[in-house]
Amino acid sequence: MTEAFVAGWPIAHSLSPKLHGFWLERSRIDGRYSPVAVTPEEFPAFLRGLPAGRFAGGNVTIPHKEAAFALCDETDAAARAIGAVNTLEVRGGRVLGSNTDAHGFSANLDALAPRWRNVAAALVIGAGGAARAVVHALQTAGIGRIVIVNRTFERAQRLAGHFGSRTEAHPMEQAGRLLAQCGLVVNTTSVGMGKDGGAPVSLENAAPGTIVNDLVYVPLQTLLLAEASARGLPAVDGLGMLLHQAAPGFEKWFGVRPDVDAETRNHVLAELARRQAAS
Ligand code: NAP
Repeated sequence: MTEAFVAGWPIAHSLSPKLHGFWLERSRIDGRYSPVAVTPEEFPAFLRGLPAGRFAGGNVTIPHKEAAFALCDETDAAARAIGAVNTLEVRGGRVLGSNTDAHGFSANLDALAPRWRNVAAALVIGAGGAARAVVHALQTAGIGRIVIVNRTFERAQRLAGHFGSRTEAHPMEQAGRLLAQCGLVVNTTSVGMGKDGGAPVSLENAAPGTIVNDLVYVPLQTLLLAEASARGLPAVDGLGMLLHQAAPGFEKWFGVRPDVDAETRNHVLAELARRQAAS
């Protein structure tokens, strides 16, 4: 049996075991994907011990993505650009690290709002780990102007400084004005999460047709997306990115590329609804 894992601290909340478990069952693969709780102190030994263990690879999530990047024997170009690894593969006694978050972001927009590749400018709200993956994806797609705003302005400046070409940083207060110049708006902050989540910006100044993508997926319909829909703007939720970023890892470990389709989405949605009802 082929085995893979998701390692994080804490890990109980992760949706990945449900998602990969569904794909394993649907593909009739003799495999297992298990959550593993690993503390930051334990993580280096966990990763270095993988070649001697039973796993073909796995995912790493908060707070281990940067540590995984530093510890892998080899990393792919996306991981090096982003500075973080979310997918590990054990091959020939070595641990190979990749980052599939940018792919997840692009593949989701390709499926739901393919026009995003033609926008002249994109507004990225936030400057944390998710923003790094989004900025890399926007650069890779050749977006001409990537405008970053963040509550902590210095962090936006650092992010723009890291990626350089075609990126610019502005204080959060400028978001409304800059929004009018951007055909794509991406919320990469955690604002909007949970029951009392607000919206990171008002869409008052958005031009007609501006694509609004929120990476938050609990709740699925955030205030930002509700406002986008009310204004007739294309609204893309965060669940698709989560599903698409998982597919390359599944293929590495289990040898089959899973379809990210309505059945997959409905399966994960049902799990989210079950958790919400239980909370
Ligand atoms: P992170 O590295 O901790 O960054 C958090 C970001 O949110 C920072 O820019 C932070 O601003 C901002 N922020 C937090 N509270 C804020 C507030 N009250 N007002 C304004 N800004 C605030 O977190 P992350 O890993 O980037 O994750 C961010 C969100 O993206 C989370 O909700 C996560 O679930 C989601 N996400 C979704 C996917 C997906 O597949 N859909 C993938 C990755 C992440 P400061 O710099 O000022 O603190």
